[in-house]
Amino acid sequence: MALARKSRLRDLAMETSDLSKDPYFMRNHLGTFECKLCSTLHTNEGNYLAHTQGKRHQSNLARRAHMEGIKTKVATVAPEILMPKIVKIGRPGFRVERTQDAATGQRVLRFEIDFPRIEKGIQPRHRLMSAYEQRVEPADNKWQYLLVAAIPYQTIGFKIPNEKIDRRPGKFSTSWNAGNLTFVVVLQYENKLLGSEDMEVEVIGASANAAGNNSSSSSSSSSGSGSSAVAVLG
Ligand SMILES: [Zn+2]
Repeated sequence: MALARKSRLRDLAMETSDLSKDPYFMRNHLGTFECKLCSTLHTNEGNYLAHTQGKRHQSNLARRAHMEGIKTKVATVAPEILMPKIVKIGRPGFRVERTQDAATGQRVLRFEIDFPRIEKGIQPRHRLMSAYEQRVEPADNKWQYLLVAAIPYQTIGFKIPNEKIDRRPGKFSTSWNAGNLTFVVVLQYENKLLGSEDMEVEVIGASANAAGNNSSSSSSSSSGSGSSAVAVLG
């Protein structure tokens, strides 16, 4: 009989439960009892206990436990999320060479950037960016920017003349040397070198704490702008 089963369960619950420790059990001002979990009213303790064995209360318990579990998980994981996982270790070392293609007279720029502490398994990424895309300094159409990013380094930006770059195969190239952990970008301008025209290359987005050679020409903008360049690159 369902009724006999119910009363057996109630007896069992009464024996094993300590209502004072039940966070959902509440005696209200009318002298009856409430389940705070299910918002149900009960005429006596036995009736409440029978309710705690019922489907409704049990499924509410399960739902609550699930929610609590999620909350606890979030609470324990959150500090790790909030802590920046990537600690930027400053600007990488680099060399820039300005040369000329012997055959065509095209101006050639060669960037060699060292990433001795690059995160395992990743390769540096590069991107050419117009003066209007970058956020580090006021836009000036005379310039364009070559950005190179590699975790955990600060993204490095080279400010180069905004002239047409020769994109033909073999003219523009990048290479990652996983052996000595250097990244090389070689680019050529379409136009030949005109007379004694000097080509300017400037490093941007260098933070104050970056171990800096060549920092005299870097922009004095805040470190925040450096990370905006990272975001654009991503
Ligand atoms: Zn309940």
